[in-house]
Amino acid sequence: MGFSENAITVLKSRYLKKNERGEIIETPDEMLKRVSKHIAQLEKDFDYWFEKFYDLMASLKFLPNTPTLINAGNPLGQLSACFVLPVGDSMEEIFEAVKQTAIIHKTGGGTGFSFSRLRPKGEVVQSTKGVASGPVSFMKVFDCATESVKQGGVRRGANMGILRVDHPDILEFIHCKEQENAITNFNISVAITDDFLEKLKNDEEYELINPHTKKVANKLKASFVWDEIANNAWKNGEPGLVFIDRINKLHTLKGVEIEATNPCGEQPLLPYESCNLGSINLSKFVKNSSIDWEDLKECVHTAVRFLDNVIDVNSYPIEQIKTETLKNRKIGLGIMGFADMLVDLNIAYNSKEGVKLASDVMSFIQKESHIASSNLANERGCFPAYENSIFKDQNIPMRNATTTTIAPTGTISMIADCSSGIEPYFTLAYYKQVLDGKKLKYVNERLLDRLQSSGINVDDFLEELIANGGRLKGLGLPKSIEDLSKIFVTSMDMDYTAHIDMQAAFQNYTDNAVSKTINMPNSATVDDVKKAYFYAIEKGLKGLTVYRDGSRSVQVLVSESKQ
Ligand code: ADP
Repeated sequence: MGFSENAITVLKSRYLKKNERGEIIETPDEMLKRVSKHIAQLEKDFDYWFEKFYDLMASLKFLPNTPTLINAGNPLGQLSACFVLPVGDSMEEIFEAVKQTAIIHKTGGGTGFSFSRLRPKGEVVQSTKGVASGPVSFMKVFDCATESVKQGGVRRGANMGILRVDHPDILEFIHCKEQENAITNFNISVAITDDFLEKLKNDEEYELINPHTKKVANKLKASFVWDEIANNAWKNGEPGLVFIDRINKLHTLKGVEIEATNPCGEQPLLPYESCNLGSINLSKFVKNSSIDWEDLKECVHTAVRFLDNVIDVNSYPIEQIKTETLKNRKIGLGIMGFADMLVDLNIAYNSKEGVKLASDVMSFIQKESHIASSNLANERGCFPAYENSIFKDQNIPMRNATTTTIAPTGTISMIADCSSGIEPYFTLAYYKQVLDGKKLKYVNERLLDRLQSSGINVDDFLEELIANGGRLKGLGLPKSIEDLSKIFVTSMDMDYTAHIDMQAAFQNYTDNAVSKTINMPNSATVDDVKKAYFYAIEKGLKGLTVYRDGSRSVQVLVSESKQ
């Protein structure tokens, strides 16, 4: 088995099966066999597909999202990472959604919500003559429920809270996470509409609509709200932006409306939809300094079949979720190990060649995943909502309404021991504090290899590198390794345009959305944040998360590999 020591630690902590006494009772190899057996169970040629799925995972070329690894073949049986639940404007509906959230979190899934249907704070409630508490107040209820499930669940729960920019409580929402400990189990994003952007462009006021009465409740200057959003994002990385009209415009299904995404933003979903994700480890497809396209193609086809099977062998925690998910059969195949691939090909992340590689790789995966889904449609039938999809207009049979999503791969990238998602390296070397006050040195293995073959004193050099924040940039490098600083770049070595260019290159060829952090240095200004927003709009992103270095001490769902 090719699992690294780090990977085994992660697997032991949560993934490997335990008995009632908490003792681990399976090996990593048995875990993969348990998963393949479960996913291949519906295949006529079980032995063939069992082997294929097992080999794909054992070679670390592909891994499904965490809930599949943990729950497949186990009693919970819930295999998806992403859910969106509707929140209706009544006590019954709100608390029903809280209950459903708890059930999903217990199984390791993450939930996204739009709170835009809730009447604003202060409106009179007919039945009680009391006043409504508004979306932000109810978000706190979801947050508390999440906190409580944390202890007993598969992993700590995570939520995405979304409010439309034209909701009357938008300002309270933008500020709702200002205090360090407020609503910590949520990421929040403002749903930006095209109308708002139009008003912003013309420097006009826009209307805030009460979702209950459908009447205009107030008007605000678009530029004022835009400033408030950028100010808060500058201060603490939130709210993020979700370009909701763009998401709906590009949705493959017609006559339905997406209001929200999953916690990390990469999976926009309809109310009650769930989606299972899986990621290809690109670092495994570089052979002799070039990409093995044939191998990648085969991997995409097998992975699509794997993820399509997940839909049918999944144990859905709530009946409505089963119904909606089976209608559209969305899957989210993505990638990880992109930074590793770039280094192996000697291409800089923040370069034209880097962006071109992203487009080449993702367009290939997108194309092949559609072919794979189309082949499956011929074998197994189209997804039930196919008649209302753009694929029907194009006369292309499809098994899945979407095939591609780029997830953060926070934990599965640690299991595969590769760089996470499409992110550049965060750091090249650092000391990690472990128990007993001991320090463990972490060094990027690819860099270490090159240093070792360069003839320099590696130990001394690494101390300097760590003292320089794990970045080669700014270090006086000996001649023999000067070139490395171009290739071994970190997220802080590039400006926001490089991050956004990369996100856009991937988004262009992704059915769903892309998880990416737009890192900015601590010295970035609010104006820089706004420039990033406009650049993201120009590049056609579906959403955006800006994070200014050091602006927050605790972050929800920062991938552990990023420190
Ligand atoms: P992994 O690497 O563990 O498979 P990712 O980091 O790729 O997961 O995250 C993918 C999605 O999984 C997230 O957008 C979210 O929907 C869900 N997710 C991630 N972490 C959690 C968590 N701690 N609790 C609940 N859901 C989570």
